[in-house]
Amino acid sequence: MLLPLLQQLISIPSQNPMGRDVSGPEYLEGRLADFVEGFFRDLGVRCERTEIAPGRPNVVGYFESPGAQRTVMLDAHLDTVPVDGMTIPPYSPTIAEGKIYGRGSCDIKGGLAAMLTAFARLVKESPAGAANVVMTCACDEEHTQVGIEALCAAWTRGHANPFRRTPDVALIAEPTNLDAVVAHRGATRWRIITRGRACHSSEPRNGVNAIYRMGRVLAELEQFAEIVRGINPPHRLVGPATLSVGRITGGQSVNVVPDCCTIEIDRRVLPGEDPVAVIDQLGDWLRPRLDFEIEMEPAYIVSRALGDEDNGPLADELLSVVAEVAGPHQKIGVPYGTHASTIASFGVPSVVFGPGSILQAHTKDEWLAIDELELATEVYYRFCLR
Ligand SMILES: [Zn+2]
Repeated sequence: MLLPLLQQLISIPSQNPMGRDVSGPEYLEGRLADFVEGFFRDLGVRCERTEIAPGRPNVVGYFESPGAQRTVMLDAHLDTVPVDGMTIPPYSPTIAEGKIYGRGSCDIKGGLAAMLTAFARLVKESPAGAANVVMTCACDEEHTQVGIEALCAAWTRGHANPFRRTPDVALIAEPTNLDAVVAHRGATRWRIITRGRACHSSEPRNGVNAIYRMGRVLAELEQFAEIVRGINPPHRLVGPATLSVGRITGGQSVNVVPDCCTIEIDRRVLPGEDPVAVIDQLGDWLRPRLDFEIEMEPAYIVSRALGDEDNGPLADELLSVVAEVAGPHQKIGVPYGTHASTIASFGVPSVVFGPGSILQAHTKDEWLAIDELELATEVYYRFCLR
């Protein structure tokens, strides 16, 4: 059942547009949500579907275990990154030499298939002593993470979770090679704009060049990017805070002095850093160094970091199950963001764990090792039995 299920999940596109103005049946999570909702309904469990944005649902399934001592949240996102530039058929999964190929095989349909399979086995076997399980399948993880935010926010409004409380612990599926990710950095992304005054380029002194102004901003930011690495002590698992300028746009035509230039900033934040305050931190440093005004837009992405203060016992428990199933593995920190930091911010100890390597995620020939898929499925199942 596991491998055919994964093949089916890969064959249902759920590309995240990543903020681009694109449309078509291969985009958004609606069709995959239909499938997952049908999966839960076929099992006869309680299932909820919530539209977070048009065509972008969250789907949640509940396994109620008689006499359960605790509630485990299993979380796997529904979306994948786009398929541009892929060198293999993205939606026609192929299997060769112990690997399954296709968009999402590694991130995140492999993890989703493993969790759904473990969930279905719990429902069918209803083993004594099993935990209650909330399986959450949220939209838009790869871009703005509004799906998981909305899902967790519903808890604080007294949402009628059948267990009438937030989960006790959460496992978040992402490719970790079966290690337990206990810490990661967060990211804040926003735009800085310089303004000028347009004029004919044949006499540039009649205008003010917004691109030249941005050039001075960039020279300062290059310095600040070094300073920011030392603003907080580097975290022992995730390294230093960083800043990078990733995009620049400005000007309409080569014969017009530009009146506007925009850059986009990617600031990676450490556990314990306020992901919103880093915008003012940069502004306070930058403005005194400039003799013109800049505009700072509010962040369009704010994702918190995951710290390892509260999830140590959970990771230890998980790793003891992993050791039974797949041999010794370890607690690690990673540079990329996940749903775990949002879930943890609602007071639920959270660890990221799943099959596959982040090196294969988002790639042009994405694949997943089938043996890890099977091992992760067994780990999710056994973890919910403890
Ligand atoms: Zn992912």
